[in-house]
Amino acid sequence: MTTVRMAKKAASPAKKITAPVKPPRISPPLASRVQAAAEPPAAAAPVLSDNDIYDRVVSAILDHRLPPGTKLVEDKLATAFGVSRTRIRPVLVRLANEQVVTLTPNRGAAIAQPTVQEAREVFEARRMIEPRLVELFIANATPADIAVLSAGIAEEEAARLAGDMRRAIRLAGDFHLLIAQAAGHQTLGRILRELVSRTSLILMTYSPSHTSEREEATACGCREHQALIDAIRLRDAREASRRMLEHLQRLESQLEFSPPDSTTPDLVSLFGRVA
Ligand SMILES: [Zn+2]
Repeated sequence: MTTVRMAKKAASPAKKITAPVKPPRISPPLASRVQAAAEPPAAAAPVLSDNDIYDRVVSAILDHRLPPGTKLVEDKLATAFGVSRTRIRPVLVRLANEQVVTLTPNRGAAIAQPTVQEAREVFEARRMIEPRLVELFIANATPADIAVLSAGIAEEEAARLAGDMRRAIRLAGDFHLLIAQAAGHQTLGRILRELVSRTSLILMTYSPSHTSEREEATACGCREHQALIDAIRLRDAREASRRMLEHLQRLESQLEFSPPDSTTPDLVSLFGRVA
């Protein structure tokens, strides 16, 4: 695992620029998003749409290429995507509305660093909606939808075995998004997309520092996804929903929320007791 160890300290709560919320767009199918991510960033030919640029940034967050705190310099992004600088701003505003980017006056944009409270809120929100999404998935999924989920787990396992953690992490996140997509609940699906992006930032910020634990925690485990699929195949909505809840609880329980320098010196022993 080569991911750079991120400082756990959350950024001081920077004042975010509030901007009018743009009407939500329907993202392209996941498969095309995955494909888009694999393409070189500055592909010359077709001019990228705002949505393409947005998808590529989100994609880089989902597979842990853009760690929290990374500065997003508008000029550099414009060059990378082969567009004018004015095209970058609305994308950053949209990402800021989704709380994956922080816009700070005079300091520009950066990938958000979720605070502990934000991390807990994100997991609480996921625990509230994902058991329901699994139930809806079971009610609506075709055998083909279930086959796609299973194939994803097999690919994730293969990526893990090959040591391609980035791909494994990405596929693990896609598992949840695929469930939401086939569940047919667009509102919850859209909320979950934001929560999954933010979860990626949370995992990068608060995963355990020990390598072995970190690899466990930086992604959902295949084993638990497999257990979910088993319940889904039986169309056992109650059991699947329970397993989803447990899975999210376990994922959250592995995070280390203590500050990085918890060795704050004891002032009494430092200075000695005066009187
Ligand atoms: Zn998972």
